[in-house]
Amino acid sequence: MKKKLSNQFLVNFLVIFLLTILATVLAFVLLSVASGLIAGSLAKNQYPASAIIKEDYKQIDASVVVQNGGGVQVVDKEYRVVYSSGLDTIGKEMLSAEEFTKFLIESKSKPYNYDILYQPQGEFWLIVTFPTSIRLDFSLVYNKAAAAGDFQRAGWALAFAVLSYLLILALFAFIYSGITAASIIRPLRKLTEGTMLLREGDYSARVDLQLKNEFADLQNTFNDMAARIEHEISLRKKSEEDRRRLILDISHDLKNPMSSIQGYAELLMKKSDLTVHERNEHLEVILNNSKRANRLLTELFELSQMDSPEFSLKLERTDICEYIRQICGELVPQLEREGFEYEFDIMEESVFVMLDNNRFGRIIQNLAHNAVRYNPPGTLVIVSLTVQDSLVVIDFSDNGIGIPAHLADHIFKPFVRVDDSRHSKTGGSGLGLSIAKRIAEAHGGDLTICLSKNKGSTFRITIPRI
Ligand code: ADP
Repeated sequence: MKKKLSNQFLVNFLVIFLLTILATVLAFVLLSVASGLIAGSLAKNQYPASAIIKEDYKQIDASVVVQNGGGVQVVDKEYRVVYSSGLDTIGKEMLSAEEFTKFLIESKSKPYNYDILYQPQGEFWLIVTFPTSIRLDFSLVYNKAAAAGDFQRAGWALAFAVLSYLLILALFAFIYSGITAASIIRPLRKLTEGTMLLREGDYSARVDLQLKNEFADLQNTFNDMAARIEHEISLRKKSEEDRRRLILDISHDLKNPMSSIQGYAELLMKKSDLTVHERNEHLEVILNNSKRANRLLTELFELSQMDSPEFSLKLERTDICEYIRQICGELVPQLEREGFEYEFDIMEESVFVMLDNNRFGRIIQNLAHNAVRYNPPGTLVIVSLTVQDSLVVIDFSDNGIGIPAHLADHIFKPFVRVDDSRHSKTGGSGLGLSIAKRIAEAHGGDLTICLSKNKGSTFRITIPRI
């Protein structure tokens, strides 16, 4: 059976209340033991009225009482104060019967300790007074000689009082346990509701307890966890979507060259009366399409290789300035052949980085290849190398047709091309920039596109220097 938190609290509080009563009783017992221990040394017990009373009050010696801070008064049967020495709480020489009775009754509740004795022979009352230091008036008084009926009634009254006291205690414990449990149950319930929403797939569920105690920490942890799950789920959805799109793109991009190869191959087989020229034309189409399919598959293989856990670079300590100068030199014949202009701005001093010489060269080659492929002759290509803090920054820019700003975020994704129709003419796979970016990232750097108002496009490669 499910145990309710409030019942658990109720039991706890009842136990605490009962223990408190027990502790109170124990405290009274200890108090009476302690006062018993000091009783003998108290002035009021050392000098009681019985110790100094005489038949003739004139012979009473009050000096010890007075020396110890007390007082002695003698009241005769006419209620006259016939003798007074030291502390005097009566304050009168003559009392009426009512005043004397009142004095006797109230003597118990005053902060003085009165010891009153009547001397029958001398017909007087001897009153010995000491100031009370500290006194706790709490005692159970009973007398066996009382009437049986009275005993029973008083017993009932006492039982009623004790029972009511216990009931009130239980009621308080009940109310208090309810309130205490509510302060725990309410946030727990909200957290449970949040957890259930998460379980049902609502990852946007968050909890606001409006508390500042430990529950607030739990709430923050819960909300953090929910946010992480939401993030992870959205990443997973995105990667699934990317994977789906990738497969679609691959099949789409392979379909055209493959069907073209198949079509022309069938044609060659069926038509035996083709001229040599026609035959060569068909074979050229087959060759070009198979080259295209092969290039696509090679690039795809390269890209998936870089995603595999076994992928690693062969890093060597390399002077990046010298390395880029060399690559730029290799680009010159191609740029000149295509009628492009160029400018190289590479620092003179040596800057060292950890480089996989083969792979890193692919980045520059891909960028140069794109610049030539997508821009008209006469376009200016600029390669510059600078050092910014701990990074080497290589900017590869051209003043050609540029890449639309809305594609800047996507251009590094596989199969993304600015213009798909242009692609069929140029033969681009849409994988070059993805491969280049992965290589840069594998070196601990990055490849990004810089958006500027200037004509053309600027790609930035960064790599940490050592
Ligand atoms: P592709 O194999 O198609 O060249 P990339 O990933 O290298 O694939 O490039 C993606 C697209 O970005 C290209 O199809 C092209 O539209 C565009 N692009 C890349 N570089 C340039 C450039 N320098 N100038 C203009 N467009 C470019």
